[in-house]
Amino acid sequence: MSGLETRDLYDVIVIGGGVVGCTILRELSRYDLKILLLEKEADLAEGISKANSGVIHAGFNVPVGSLKARMNVAGLFKIYELLKQLNVPHRKTGKVVVALQDAEKERLEELKAQGEANGTPDLTIVNAKQIREFEPHTQGEWALFSPHTGILSPYQFTIALAECAWQNGAVVKLESPVIAIQYLTGFFEVKTPSESFKTRWIVNSAGLFSDEVAKLAGITDYQIFPYRGEYLITDKDTDFDLRMPVYPVPPKGGPGLGIHITPTVDGNILLGPSAEFVEDKMNTDSTKKVMNELKQEAFELMPELKKFQFIRSFAGVRPKLVDPKGNIRFKDFVIEESPYRPGLINLIGIESPGLTASPAIAEYVVNIIAQQENLQFKTQFNPNRPELIRFAELDDESRAKQVHENSQWGDMVCRCESVTKAEVLHALNNPFGVKTLDGIKRRTRCGTGRCQGGFCTPRIVEIMQQEGIPLEQITKRGANSPLFFGRIKG
Ligand SMILES: Cc1cc2nc3c(=O)[nH]c(=O)nc-3n(C[C@H](O)[C@H](O)[C@H](O)COP(=O)(O)OP(=O)(O)OC[C@H]3O[C@@H](n4cnc5c(N)ncnc54)[C@H](O)[C@@H]3O)c2cc1C
Repeated sequence: MSGLETRDLYDVIVIGGGVVGCTILRELSRYDLKILLLEKEADLAEGISKANSGVIHAGFNVPVGSLKARMNVAGLFKIYELLKQLNVPHRKTGKVVVALQDAEKERLEELKAQGEANGTPDLTIVNAKQIREFEPHTQGEWALFSPHTGILSPYQFTIALAECAWQNGAVVKLESPVIAIQYLTGFFEVKTPSESFKTRWIVNSAGLFSDEVAKLAGITDYQIFPYRGEYLITDKDTDFDLRMPVYPVPPKGGPGLGIHITPTVDGNILLGPSAEFVEDKMNTDSTKKVMNELKQEAFELMPELKKFQFIRSFAGVRPKLVDPKGNIRFKDFVIEESPYRPGLINLIGIESPGLTASPAIAEYVVNIIAQQENLQFKTQFNPNRPELIRFAELDDESRAKQVHENSQWGDMVCRCESVTKAEVLHALNNPFGVKTLDGIKRRTRCGTGRCQGGFCTPRIVEIMQQEGIPLEQITKRGANSPLFFGRIKG
């Protein structure tokens, strides 16, 4: 092997620590392979996988015969079991796609037929009375009801997948942007600014940037067009129990599924997303114009939402393969081993329903490798990830027990979400060395409540300092996001 020692050589390097890369990493960790994931940011799920609707799609929105449809429905059949194994918050809620007028009923029938052809189970059309039984506050004359749709926490899913892969021997390196890929005889050399790795296979799952990563390896066939989707998120309201996502009839051929109303696993409600082409892949701005549009459209479906306070806006960016010049052509997921660079598997345009499809995508990618390699199962593979204890979810007796065993469970750091010091410390001790404020937020929910970190941020900073992290090294999300710029007192 050209003088290379086996220990220097990875079998597979996965580029990108989003949900797709992490699902693939976990799937690969079933086998006796030396595997590494490289992520450019300071944490996992910093790209598309942190800002989306978090809906487990049932497969009726995607064209019959497409790879998207195959992966979506196969993913649906796998994902609930996977979420249980990883102890990731999720709920099978069901979903309604609502027609506000009789004239839209035909479109619901079309979606139902499309879903049935794709293999989506148990779709039914329901009338106005049944809609109100499902969701008392929802307007509408007719709806398509999908009982197997659900919701999950997308970033907790991503983190849990990586932790499970790590438990099974995978290596994860953060703050490691791939800047060069060289094809040498029989292997690739993959470079980050500080290190260089050799590998026999590369899986390019760099999300919005997978076209650019492919270019590093000399492949110029792909171009990703970013489409921003803005969201509003409500404060929690204990009187209002939104049980399931409520969608409008999707605009035919449009870039999104329409402004929907989605419960989150944490008890908030999302309005959105919009769908708009933006020049810059990193453009996650929120705009007043779209905020107003989101409210207007969502209030039409559910007037009761007017009573809510909105605590935050955010945006995610879709990696589309359709250009913005009005070409409303459908483009499928691209998942292929490059014909020009054997050993390089590119995943391009993994937009919605990529989250749902990810477990099926992972198997599909590993199958490409398995067709050329004699993969050996690891007998000691552990598919589970231990459950995290969340103080907010415990009953009084269990809370008392936790506090009795360790007083840090009685030290409340985030009042809005009832997160304790014990949970913050556990998050800081994550296996990947993530020490950012957002990293703690996504692992504990600190700072996601009504005050949006107003109360808990100074407490978290204090805890981080106690744990030996110098003040000037504390950042929101890694490089270029310092929280502190200098001292005003000596
Ligand atoms: C608005 C919106 C709503 C959505 N709603 C849903 C939904 O409800 N249900 C659903 O199933 N799907 C949904 N999706 C789709 C889903 O979120 C995506 O398909 C999925 O998150 C894509 O994951 P990924 O891992 O491919 O990309 P990402 O999460 O973006 O991960 C790619 C990673 O690669 C890293 N990277 C990039 N370049 C490099 C480099 N050079 N070196 C190292 N690392 C690099 C990035 O930092 C990033 O972390 C939605 C998407 C959007 C935008």
